[in-house]
Amino acid sequence: MPVLPLLLACAPGAPDAFLAYVRGDDGYVVEPRALPALEDAGTMTGTLGSVRHGGRVVGNGAGEQYSGGRGLTVRYVVQDGVAVPLDQDGLLLYSFYGHLADATDTLEAGGLDLDAIFPVDIAWNPAVSPLLELAPADNAAYAIGANVFLLLPDGDNREVPLLANAGVVTHELGHAVLHLLMTGDPSSDPLVADTSTAAGMWQSALHEGFADSLAALTLDDPRFLDVSLDMPARYADTDAVLTAALLPDPAAVADSLLPIYDPYPLGTVFASLMWDIRVATDDAPATLELLFRGVEHWAPSGPDDLDGAVFLGALVAAAEPGTQRDVVCAAVELRIDGLLAVAGCP
Ligand SMILES: [Zn+2]
Repeated sequence: MPVLPLLLACAPGAPDAFLAYVRGDDGYVVEPRALPALEDAGTMTGTLGSVRHGGRVVGNGAGEQYSGGRGLTVRYVVQDGVAVPLDQDGLLLYSFYGHLADATDTLEAGGLDLDAIFPVDIAWNPAVSPLLELAPADNAAYAIGANVFLLLPDGDNREVPLLANAGVVTHELGHAVLHLLMTGDPSSDPLVADTSTAAGMWQSALHEGFADSLAALTLDDPRFLDVSLDMPARYADTDAVLTAALLPDPAAVADSLLPIYDPYPLGTVFASLMWDIRVATDDAPATLELLFRGVEHWAPSGPDDLDGAVFLGALVAAAEPGTQRDVVCAAVELRIDGLLAVAGCP
């Protein structure tokens, strides 16, 4: 059968690059990029996981699972070795997969072992339950416990679609990373399933703060959202400080018109505190490393540990004595404004 090898040699073969949104020094451009983790440009399967079309996350809080997705087909052509998607969905998905690969590579190069997260389910345009509490701007989400990324088509004409924004993708990966660090198992239930309790609210806020810190420090950009969303309240370099109104208060949330806790304002206070440390030390990688050491030190085991003061006490304890600890305490003083009793600072 001498014909077979010849046919294989003449087949279009795997592309060696993918057209995608790429973050450059002067902003985002759409250009070919290498993406060895993506093994099949048509079905979107690769070492990080497969993209499935549709499906849904069943359950809320504890015991969530993703199911029902079907195989996906991205239509593309190969031009000069580059996989060029033939629709916007394909461009967004190649971009998402590329940013996920970049963020994972960066974190693993920094010493984190993320093997347990992958392969992960990636759901394109799933049915989203209102119980997941997605805000209208959430076009990408990570369902904790189900270990699945949920990607929704982007309705608006943005400079950079949310799924193509490296910061948004790194933020979502941040939820997976924190859940892994907190529980040791990406498919385990969250420590607290009920987000209407004070511990559940702290858990949500610390998750958002960690995810934003991870994105800002990895990309060294406190305004990574800016190219996609006009949402200055989420920038990590403004004057966000803790106020009494931001402290988790189940009764106040239950009495409000929309009784769903919004974890972002409190999360932004924590991300801003981390950004202060990065600015004062002029060292983003060391600040990221400190954040990981802080989470390791925190090692929450139950609702009592899900509290900003406990987390910050662990961050202070994880800081190197001397300059780094002084910088952390200065950031705590500025951003927490005396509203939490943080151990280890004067
Ligand atoms: Zn988030």
